[in-house]
Amino acid sequence: MSDFEGLRALVTGGASGIGRATAELLAARGARVAVLDLDPSSVDKPLLAYRADIRDDASVRAAVAAAAADLGGLDVLVNNAGIGAQGTVADNDDEEWHRVLDVNVVGMVRVTRAALPHLRASAHAAIVNTSSIGATAGLPQRALYCASKGAVYSLTLAMAADHVREGIRVNCVNPGTADTPWIGRLLEKAPDPAAERAALEARQPTGRLVSADEVAGAIAYLASPLSGATTGTSLAVDGGMQGL
Ligand code: NAD
Repeated sequence: MSDFEGLRALVTGGASGIGRATAELLAARGARVAVLDLDPSSVDKPLLAYRADIRDDASVRAAVAAAAADLGGLDVLVNNAGIGAQGTVADNDDEEWHRVLDVNVVGMVRVTRAALPHLRASAHAAIVNTSSIGATAGLPQRALYCASKGAVYSLTLAMAADHVREGIRVNCVNPGTADTPWIGRLLEKAPDPAAERAALEARQPTGRLVSADEVAGAIAYLASPLSGATTGTSLAVDGGMQGL
């Protein structure tokens, strides 16, 4: 993979899991990287950290402006911050639908809107959105989450079409079950977390969960000039979950 020398990247949700692994990988490859997160207190140098809530347009605009000013511009936007939701359509009320869509879909739009003027000024502009296997697979007990990630997938295609002539590429990754603090929190709620983890692993064709680093690798590829002719695509990082 080519390195990111001279490129400036912003990663949302970069304080944990997939976002953290992505921010660290891009920085290790030579990018200057800013992390935008609800709680960036654990983010260390060389990463720059900005506190913002992607549900709040003013906080997003302030954080993106500060990050772009400190980095001297933006070439790469990784729209990764997101939250989960469990249940069928019978289980989640309107308030819960609005809450999750506000983060997973509208939050992504807010950050993109704030970043676009900076990306337009870049010679290597790329946006990578974190969708999910749930965008294209019917995961039981995840109706709201799947709908939100399906919207991220459609948004990726629409954004790619809208911005291709401005030189901005837009792609997404569709991770399967990735071993991040998020999954740790879900497993903790099970009566027997170890047994639940073993059952989850047994459902994977590879017999193991996807690592955050493996998702970060796919994001880095789509963000790098190596994928310069690729826009409007999704890359599955699911250990063969959908393909096999
Ligand atoms: P995580 O919980 O470890 O990290 C998510 C990060 O996003 C956290 O640092 C959190 O503070 C931040 N965040 C959440 N809401 C925010 C808000 N309103 N404003 C700013 N920051 C906010 O989760 P993860 O597993 O690394 O997931 C990252 C992305 O990957 C999410 O979009 C998720 O839907 C997607 N994904 C995860 C998996 C998985 O199995 N872990 C699978 C498919 C897709």
